[in-house]
Amino acid sequence: MGLLSWARSKSPWVAVLHCGGCNCCDIEALAVLTPRFDVERFGILWKQNPRHADVLVAIGCVTKHSKVFVKRIYDQMLEPKAVIALGSCACTGGVYMEGRGDNIEETHTVIGGVDKAMPVDVFIPGCPPKPEAIIHGVVMALEKFKAK
Ligand code: SF4
Repeated sequence: MGLLSWARSKSPWVAVLHCGGCNCCDIEALAVLTPRFDVERFGILWKQNPRHADVLVAIGCVTKHSKVFVKRIYDQMLEPKAVIALGSCACTGGVYMEGRGDNIEETHTVIGGVDKAMPVDVFIPGCPPKPEAIIHGVVMALEKFKAK
């Protein structure tokens, strides 16, 4: 592993992409920056721009119309990169899908989780997930990132 790859894997930049959803997952994602969790003490920096990020945290479901934009943002990230689906909406479409149990279906607008638009490395379920789960998910994503 080269010096640059080593540095990127030890101090990754993380960007949050809001695809949809109710905003509670966004609040939990911001909570990891607060003094109680302070994820930056591990060298993990939250950034605004996906073009500068190593890890993309995607929140919310994907619709027929947003799919192309989500994919475009993914394509604009540098290689290697890792994607985290944060929350039930991002994992499966969550409460925005129709049906229950094994009979979950698309609606006339929502087609599912973010894996419908881009490859996902780590799924963090929960509605919303706790900050501890988000930090754990970022650590898991870094393992995938290193492997790439
Ligand atoms: S998973 Fe739950 S908390 Fe997160 S965006 Fe969806 S509905 Fe909101």
